[in-house]
Amino acid sequence: MNKKYRRAVIAGNWKMNKLPAEAAQLVEAIKAENAGADNSNVTVVCCVPYVDIDAAVKAAKGSFIHIGAENCHWEKSGAFTGEISADMLVACGVEYVIIGHSERRQYFGETDLTVNKRVKAALEAGLQVILCVGELLEQREQGITEEIISMQVKIDLADITEEQMKNIIIAYEPVWAIGTGKTATAEQADEVCEAIRKTLGALYTPALAEATTIQYGGSMNAKNCEELLAKEHVDGGLIGGASLKAPDFTAIIKAAR
Ligand code: PEP
Repeated sequence: MNKKYRRAVIAGNWKMNKLPAEAAQLVEAIKAENAGADNSNVTVVCCVPYVDIDAAVKAAKGSFIHIGAENCHWEKSGAFTGEISADMLVACGVEYVIIGHSERRQYFGETDLTVNKRVKAALEAGLQVILCVGELLEQREQGITEEIISMQVKIDLADITEEQMKNIIIAYEPVWAIGTGKTATAEQADEVCEAIRKTLGALYTPALAEATTIQYGGSMNAKNCEELLAKEHVDGGLIGGASLKAPDFTAIIKAAR
C-alpha cells in the first residue's frame, strides 16, 4: 500500500486561543476560503478549546469540517475538578481529540501512562484520537530520537487492539519544532514517520502500519506544507499557529488535497 490509500488528515490545534464568537467566525472563514473546493479526499479537523466547542460545532454543521477537543480525562465522571470526560465531548458533538500533546506533557505532568489511559477512554467513548509523540531537542542531539518515539508509541498504545487502531491517528511532533518557527526538514519528518510505521508493524501487522495515518506537526505553514506533505510517510499535519488563519490553514488543506 502507498500513501494515496491512507486517509490524509489536516488538523488544527487552536490551543488556548479564540473566544466562542471568534471560534464561530474562524470556522465560517475556513468554510468560505474552501468554497467550491472538493475536500472529499482530505479530512479536516479543528481542535478547539472546550468552551468553543458548542460554537464551533454549530458553525461547522453540514460542512467538511470536523470538530475536535484538545484533551480528555480517562474517567467517565467523578471528583476531577477542572477535567472533562470523553463522554462529555461526544455529547457536545466532538468527533476527534488530541491526546499527549507535548504542551500537556511539558506543563501539566502528562506521562505516557496517563496518555495511554486517556487514549483508551477516548476510544471507548467513540472518539477518534490524534496521539502526539515527539522528541526533545537534547534527545535528537543525543541520536536517540527513534528509541524515544518507539517507546512513546509502545506505552501510549498499550492494550489498544487492532480494531481500535482504525480510530487512531499518530502525530509526530518534534518538541523543538512546536511554536518555534523551526520546522523539521521534510527528510527528518519522513524518517521518523517511517520509524513510527515500523514500530506499528512490529506491534501489530505490516498491513496495519501501512494503513495508519501519520501526521507531521511542528511549525507547518502555507510555505513549507507542500514539501512536507509530499513525503511518502507524512499523511497529514497537526497545525498550531497557522491553523488560526483561514487562508494559511486552507493552503495546507489544498496541499493535502
Ligand atoms: C501544535 O501545537 O501541535 C503545533 C504543531 O504548533 P505549531 O504549528 O504552532 O508549531
